[in-house]
Amino acid sequence: MAETDIYAALKKYFGFTRFKGLQEEVIKSILQGNNTFVVMPTGGGKSLCYQLPALMQEGTAIVVSPLIALMKNQVDALRALSSEEGIAHVLNSSLNKTEVKNVKADIASGITKLLYVAPESLTKEEYVNFLQTQKISFMAIDEAHCISEWGHDFRPEYRNLKSIIQRIGDNIPIIGLTATATPKVQEDILKNLNMQDANTFKASFNRPNLYYEIRPKTKNVDSDIIRFVKQNEGKTGIIYCLSRKRVEELAQALQVNGIKAVPYHAGLDGKTRVKHQDMFLMEDVDVVVATIAFGMGIDKPDVRFVIHNDIPKSIESYYQETGRGGRDGGEGHCLAFYSYKDIEKLEKFMSGKPVAEQEIGHALLQEVVGFAETSMSRRKFILHYFGEEFDNETGDGGMMDDNMRYPKKKHEAKDNAKL
Ligand code: ADP
Ligand code: MG
Repeated sequence: MAETDIYAALKKYFGFTRFKGLQEEVIKSILQGNNTFVVMPTGGGKSLCYQLPALMQEGTAIVVSPLIALMKNQVDALRALSSEEGIAHVLNSSLNKTEVKNVKADIASGITKLLYVAPESLTKEEYVNFLQTQKISFMAIDEAHCISEWGHDFRPEYRNLKSIIQRIGDNIPIIGLTATATPKVQEDILKNLNMQDANTFKASFNRPNLYYEIRPKTKNVDSDIIRFVKQNEGKTGIIYCLSRKRVEELAQALQVNGIKAVPYHAGLDGKTRVKHQDMFLMEDVDVVVATIAFGMGIDKPDVRFVIHNDIPKSIESYYQETGRGGRDGGEGHCLAFYSYKDIEKLEKFMSGKPVAEQEIGHALLQEVVGFAETSMSRRKFILHYFGEEFDNETGDGGMMDDNMRYPKKKHEAKDNAKL
């Protein structure tokens, strides 16, 4: 495949003239029929890595993805790029018989370039039998960390994927994609998909424009947050809380203090959620106070601060959530409030879970404690956690955290945390 063809296809299907990061290398690897493993942060452009080669190749690429809503989005977006309605399909339990028949007909005729499936649908005998008889270009496993118990979103159905892929066909190239960068999860993915031979592409997880700050959480956390928001008047921000109750409380406290804020959590009815989300996107309000239900698929580039009222349960979650700040490359202040009591609370939440899960949860939390209490460069800590070397003397954003800007002695940091 000539280089010019890849660029022509990029322009033709997506209207882009340039690849982002490692996309071009990844796409070449896929087009050569290699097993390929892609680790890129959220927003890095992983979808295009498999969509473009799927569109360029003969046959249908099967894309496994855990979220039905996200699959639908992608299919709609692909259809909008093409005059061919059948170019992309979703195959899942929501389809009726006639719809399934149409999907199969499109695949058989070679129109369908991308078929999105949920992992549980792939266990359906009927589908496997059908797919066995079709030309499959490759299999893309999106959100591949779902395979690993060490991932933040473990899904047991992902464990069966390898055997199902083998049943669908010998030698179907596998593409694994994830934004989870811990070496342990990566190892798990490669092992489970039996693709240790994969060409691996890892983008840097450094977000040099984000400033990381951890403050001790005291009973004055409300006024600390209000002061911070007022100092950042006119800027847009997200405040994450662990519980719905706390979301409501804090949103009210902000409103009472003249800050334009709305709550967002899964306990609100759908209409209110959409309304509050739109108010945030349209900048009718400055701040959304939310549980982690907020943020999935929300792409507001100019979020200027992300506050954690409660420390998250893992470094992955922290990275993911703070990562919603400064998408446009501009300022992004990430402020988290930490108290060891909150760690104990999180430990307690887990106590009903299976022992193996508790052990993993505990280990992840210990990393969070280490991060919150460290006196070293926070960026270096995060990147080291993700298996990446970082030199904060020379690296991009090396001074962008509280510890580097205002160094303090170790015991001070620890004592503060116990307040
Ligand atoms: P990820 O899955 O890695 O989180 P996405 O695939 O959702 O990221 O892509 C994030 C955004 O980047 C999307 O809006 C997409 O259109 C955009 N994007 C991807 N590739 C390119 C490119 N080559 N040029 C410009 N924008 C791109
Ligand atoms: Mg993605």
